[in-house]
Amino acid sequence: MTNKFDYIVVGGGSAGCAVANRLSENDTNKVLLIEAGRSSHPISRLPASFALLIDNPLANWRYRSEPEENTGNREIPIPRGKLLGGSSSINGLVFVRGNKLDYDTWAQMGNTGWSYDDVLPFFKKMENYQGNTSELRGEEGPLKVSEVSDRNPIYDAIFKSGEVNNIPFNKDYNGEDQEGLGYTQTTIYKGERMSAEVAYLRPIKSRKNLTIITNSLVTKLLFEKKKCIGVEVKNKNKLSTFMTSKEVILSGGAINSPQILELSGIGNSSILKKKGIEPIHHLVGVGENLRDHIAPRIIYRIKKEGISYNDKAGGINLIKQVFRYMFKRDGFLALPSAPVVGFFKTRKELASPDIQVHFIPYRVVLKDGKRSLGKEPGITCTVNQNRPESKGSIHIKSNDPNEFPSIKFNFMSNQLDKDTLVDGVKLIRKLMQSAPMKEFCDLEIQPGLDYSSDKDILNFIRDKAETVYHPVGTCKMGFDENAVVDKNLKVHGIQGLRIADASIMPTLISGNTNAACMMIGERCADFIINN
Ligand SMILES: Cc1cc2nc3c(=O)[nH]c(=O)nc-3n(C[C@H](O)[C@H](O)[C@H](O)COP(=O)(O)OP(=O)(O)OC[C@H]3O[C@@H](n4cnc5c(N)ncnc54)[C@H](O)[C@@H]3O)c2cc1C
Repeated sequence: MTNKFDYIVVGGGSAGCAVANRLSENDTNKVLLIEAGRSSHPISRLPASFALLIDNPLANWRYRSEPEENTGNREIPIPRGKLLGGSSSINGLVFVRGNKLDYDTWAQMGNTGWSYDDVLPFFKKMENYQGNTSELRGEEGPLKVSEVSDRNPIYDAIFKSGEVNNIPFNKDYNGEDQEGLGYTQTTIYKGERMSAEVAYLRPIKSRKNLTIITNSLVTKLLFEKKKCIGVEVKNKNKLSTFMTSKEVILSGGAINSPQILELSGIGNSSILKKKGIEPIHHLVGVGENLRDHIAPRIIYRIKKEGISYNDKAGGINLIKQVFRYMFKRDGFLALPSAPVVGFFKTRKELASPDIQVHFIPYRVVLKDGKRSLGKEPGITCTVNQNRPESKGSIHIKSNDPNEFPSIKFNFMSNQLDKDTLVDGVKLIRKLMQSAPMKEFCDLEIQPGLDYSSDKDILNFIRDKAETVYHPVGTCKMGFDENAVVDKNLKVHGIQGLRIADASIMPTLISGNTNAACMMIGERCADFIINN
């Protein structure tokens, strides 16, 4: 195989697959996509695989945060996809673009070209929406997006409780307005996962100008002075190099992209020197500005039989669900991580919702990074603040590319974050205690009504909450001293290197992050092609 390409994309995840597809549309571009993980996992297309692969070393990096006081000195699990499709091959399949205001805020920060009006064409270009046609939705993109097919009387009760509490039913939270409760739009089509690999790579793998190599870890970027000229790759303990005549696009995700930059000598010089790395370019923001959605899970017991999937899929009933999936491609195994979602304002005067809630029609048990069905029938409500202000960091622990970086979330270090989460939990309680839900639920199992004061709720979050797996922001876009890339995703002070993945988000968006990452991939390819 030749080792010279026009473009080298590092990481075949949500953004990387989109970049590789669009750049190789022009057959004069020779494109190389390098992925550290395998090409696929046998169960990844099964929607329920999100629970089965959440801690599986064959498809997952399985990072953990450092123990921190604000989160009870626990190590919080950080699953990340390690296979083609990246985290979109193991994620919860919930499809959310985010709120218009998220992107308008990015533009307002000086990132012209990133307002909602600017990014909307790329969200549309990405998707093939199976719901009602609308000028806000795309119909010709590679990614099929469908409304969840599962129906359950408890979902109707959630919507009715919403009405009682002035929270409207929303038919399309990715359309005109995000606020309200609605059925989840999913990256599931005919009962199977649509990962970035399925959408963007599978249909074009025969392109002769696209080379994809898997099980190959990029250990560092190569430079000639301040110009990126290639990458070093480790495959089965053998090191090789691949060179670029145009650009390298780093799409390793929010944990790995800053790690690769630091290993390559780009970052805060004093951190690099301490780890034995010779700095090439001093950029203090590398690895800073880490944000994620910490999300307490409130669990209610369901008193009616046959409603919760703890009943419908627990024990021997799982066999029925397997047959149901085999013959009808629906039921428990075809569910996304949450079939109903809501976007709420904790204060009326807010311009857009400040919390998101995932409603899961069974009791979820999280233990040591693993996820299982509890025995008792229940419903789990996961609540997170949309745009947290607390910021953490990711930095290498040594110059060994195989050693995991140190990840510090610094959750709940901001008063607004604490207040919003507490108000979010209270809002869930109000909703779940409204008459339509009371017909189904009789007891708050977690945290339980003993946790009544704001301080109790905060203690519960500190001791129990994990995330909904949306780390972003560690190579943020912008122009201040902490910015790593500019508005065209070029690394400040370096030639021939862009970043396209969750790490470039200056702030966290109001929702799940997969769609935004694919949009960032589309956007990056467009910058390269049309600039
Ligand atoms: C368990 C879980 C559930 C989630 N649920 C949802 C959900 O329901 N909806 C939603 O919208 N979002 C969800 N997310 C988040 C969403 O999937 C991610 O934000 C998104 O996929 C990230 O895209 P990315 O391109 O930034 O990185 P990734 O998709 O993570 O891709 C990075 C890729 O780079 C590869 N890579 C990294 N380092 C190297 C290296 N050194 N050399 C070569 N390759 C490398 C990785 O193996 C990976 O394939 C979830 C995530 C997880 C983990």
